[in-house]
Amino acid sequence: MNPSSLEGLIEALRCLPGVGPKSAQRMAYYLLQHDRAGAKRLAEGIDTALRAVQHCVRCNTFTESETCDRCTSSKRDPTQLCIVETPVDMNMMEQAHAYSGLYYVLMGRISPLDGVGPRELKLDRLLARAGDGIVREVILATNYTNEGEATAHYLSELLKSRGIAVTRIARGVPVGGGLEYVDSGTLAQAMRERRPLV
Ligand code: ZN
Repeated sequence: MNPSSLEGLIEALRCLPGVGPKSAQRMAYYLLQHDRAGAKRLAEGIDTALRAVQHCVRCNTFTESETCDRCTSSKRDPTQLCIVETPVDMNMMEQAHAYSGLYYVLMGRISPLDGVGPRELKLDRLLARAGDGIVREVILATNYTNEGEATAHYLSELLKSRGIAVTRIARGVPVGGGLEYVDSGTLAQAMRERRPLV
């Protein structure tokens, strides 16, 4: 039987995605036996990030200020709003150098099996953002996975019903593929060849 504080650590590690009881136990043993300094950095890193990091009020990505640098930049085109699933996808899109508008980060995708529906994604915030009167085109750049496609479909219906023009990035992105795994040339092409959703 483990000491209760160790049990507490094992239980806490299980909040990580894909970590079951056995791997949580392995991680806890490793940290306490082999890397106490690393464990301390981990604890401090989590604590600091929890205090400092919040969601940008405009694009919903992670930031340390109320509005992120990209949203306040005068170099971006405010008439285009690209919707992505995660901050990683947004970074991938930036690296492709094919887009200079603004973003909205869903921080997920509609996934009924995981209990994530429109309400969990807080889509009312997105609707308010897209309907600010300045945005002329919403570009759906969710992944070409079943869930990403379902999310794009749901969003396009929602946005079109409010008179907002919607396009979808072209299928240079492989079926079942996440933006994260696509080379930037392919992603740039998908952005350039985006199509209107009618
Ligand atoms: Zn922002």
